[in-house]
Parts: sequence; C-alpha cells; structure tokens
Amino acid sequence: MELSKRQQEIIEIVKADGPITGENIAERLSLTRATLRPDLAILTMAGFLEARPRVGYFFTGKTGSELLSEKIKKFKVHEFQQVPIVIKENVSVYDAISTMFLEDVGTLFVLNEKGCLSGVLSRKDLLRASMGQQDLNSIAVHIIMTRMPNINVCQKDDLLLDAAQQLINKEIDGLPVVKEGEEGLVVIGRITKTTITKVFVELAIDSHV
Ligand code: ADP
Repeated sequence: MELSKRQQEIIEIVKADGPITGENIAERLSLTRATLRPDLAILTMAGFLEARPRVGYFFTGKTGSELLSEKIKKFKVHEFQQVPIVIKENVSVYDAISTMFLEDVGTLFVLNEKGCLSGVLSRKDLLRASMGQQDLNSIAVHIIMTRMPNINVCQKDDLLLDAAQQLINKEIDGLPVVKEGEEGLVVIGRITKTTITKVFVELAIDSHV
C-alpha cells in the first residue's frame, strides 16, 4: 500500500506522541479534524493505527509487509473459487479435448454416475492419450484420468494459502473445491494457478492493504 505524504506524517506523529486524539493530530498538521478523517480511517482500516474511544490513536507497530501477510493468511477458498468445468466418465477423450478448448480451462473434473468426483484430467493427460495410434473418439476419459483416492482437493473454508501450497507441493495446476455428499465428494468450485495469479495482481493494485 502506497501511503500519501500526509498519511506518513500522521503515522510519525502517532508514533512519537500516541496515544493522541484526532483533534490533536489535526492541530499539529494545521488542518481540520474533518479533512483528516479519511486518512485516519484508511490508516486504521489498513492496521497501521488503532483507535480507542476517548483515548486516541495508537501506532500498532506493524510494517506494511506484516499487514499484507496477515491479510493473505485470512483469505478463504470460497472468496476466490471459480466455476468448475466437469464431464462424465464415459465422455470420449476427443470430446474432453473439445470441452477444454470451448471452456478455456486447463483442468477438467470427472464425475461418476452418481455425480460425485471420480477423476481429474489435465492438458498433458489428454496430450499423452493423443500420442498413441488410438481413435480418440473410442477412448473414454475414465481410462486415462487420475482417479480417486489420489485426487488432491480443498474445501470452501480452507485457507487460500493452503490451497496454493498444495498446488506447489503436488506440482498440479488446479484443485477441485469439494463438499461431502451422501455418495461421495460433490464438486462446487475450482482453485487454479490462475486464481492465485489474479489474487496476487489484485493485492498489488488494491490500495487498502
Ligand atoms: P499438466 O499435465 O498440464 O502439467 P497438471 O500439472 O495439473 O497439468 O497435472 C499433472 C498430473 O497431475 C496429471 O496427470 C493430472 O491428471 C494430475 N492432477 C491434476 N490435478 C490434480 C489433482 N487436483 N489431484 C491429483 N492429481 C491431479
């Protein structure tokens, strides 16, 4: 977060003389309390300052990167998950490739006849199947997919950071977001490397830490 010159001045004043009231900070800067209000709100929201009623503002002592890291550690999967693209087990490799192009995704989730998660298909799984001499219309995806119980999953209330760590540790591009159903795991979303990249960019342009 880029702090304005005035916001930096406020922090310096509170660091040196806190607890200090908004009124007193305004006086020191020769400004009105009203002019200062948005800056104080931003600094409090971002976690640099803490406001105590009838006492004034304290400096929390946290650096920008500590605040950023605290914020990232609170992100939950459900706040960022995207729509999952799913296909059935008996779909042909040819149709799976078409779906991947049409939906513009790199990972497909495969559902069994009960509608529960049974497999994952990546780009390379489909490329590998295409390298043989077989007719791609005659091979069903359940033959080539990575199957349960070897699928890495996450749940909507998991930390996004833990999902990102799974993507790195398991060297995969995506994770299905699942919930327990009567007959197996129901796929409700997906977290991919693109999801994490988007969050990274948003954090950089979001001015309120
Ligand atoms: P690519 O094959 O394009 O490099 P991935 O790295 O995602 O894409 O996939 C590598 C392998 O891991 C593939 O065989 C794929 O089926 C499998 N895979 C992908 N996602 C998962 C997952 N969530 N859980 C388990 N295996 C997965």
